[in-house]
Amino acid sequence: MKEFTLIDTYFANLLPSVPSLILGVGDDAAVWEPTPNKQQIFTVDTLHAGCHFLPEDPPDTVGHKALAVSLSDCAAMGARPVGFLLSLSLPRIDETWVKNFSLGLKALASQYDLALLGGDTTQGPLSISLTLMGEVEPGNFLTRAGAQVQDDIYVSGTLGLPRLGLELLQGNQYIPEADYDLIVKAYRQPQPQLSLGQALIGLATSCIDISDGFAADLGHILEKSHCGAQVQVETLPLHHLLKEYVEADRALDWALTAGDDYQLIFTVPPSRRDEVKAISERLNLPLTRVGIITPGTELIAHRANGQRFDLGSKGWEHFSNE
Ligand code: ADP
Ligand code: MG
Repeated sequence: MKEFTLIDTYFANLLPSVPSLILGVGDDAAVWEPTPNKQQIFTVDTLHAGCHFLPEDPPDTVGHKALAVSLSDCAAMGARPVGFLLSLSLPRIDETWVKNFSLGLKALASQYDLALLGGDTTQGPLSISLTLMGEVEPGNFLTRAGAQVQDDIYVSGTLGLPRLGLELLQGNQYIPEADYDLIVKAYRQPQPQLSLGQALIGLATSCIDISDGFAADLGHILEKSHCGAQVQVETLPLHHLLKEYVEADRALDWALTAGDDYQLIFTVPPSRRDEVKAISERLNLPLTRVGIITPGTELIAHRANGQRFDLGSKGWEHFSNE
């Protein structure tokens, strides 16, 4: 199968057309009519086989993840996603792989009525780059920059399970079969917190999604907001299966420093706790208060007894071994 037949077969009509897409897949560029009186947001993420997913991961889960990580960025901005561009680098044309990849992508894209504007297909090491476009009411977006001293720090959902999924896939740990699929799914198919991000507009003073680990990503909020934080480690919402299968200190370390959680960290003034609680109930999503914004620049983690908890290298950095 040739490149163009591949695009025509699996991508040209993958998603239904939307009125804003004046010209989609098939020409030299796409033409898009922005919604009047909205601001656009853009984000791009690249996933390399062996780094961001495992080469043997089922292709539908790779399609899901390629889109989910960008949707997570969109969630952190409090934006509504509208469409995306897809750049695929494939070592060879494996039609079954591409077909299942496209189906995984479609399943998630359909949940949000996204448009596929176009893309690029080249031969090379297996890697996917996806550019997502979203929209917000003018000025109504969340950033990393607005946290204020005394604000509460919250994290959504639970932490650490994707890391356990990776350990299982790498054969580093064995657990009863009954829980295997759910844990591996947490690694392969993260669920972006879009409803939460949009609900936090006008409430959260800052927000970020966790792609590099709780501590590293909270660190980005502190840097941009010019403040420090105190986090009490026992309050971090570790997934119950993590507590069940992983020794306590290791589980805590993963919750603090492992990437791939794709939950949101956000800050809210303490006077507005009821509003956070109402969102948590409405979305049926745990929103856990884990710390407080402080003066200074330091991120201090401590135990309930006051003892300081060493954060070590604070998470994953791509070029950390250079
Ligand atoms: P050009 O060489 O002019 O950039 P391409 O051959 O790369 O054109 O692409 C032809 C058309 O197919 C374009 O509209 C492009 O957006 C679309 N396309 C290519 N690869 C993909 C893909 N992986 N997913 C969606 N659309 C794609
Ligand atoms: Mg091209």
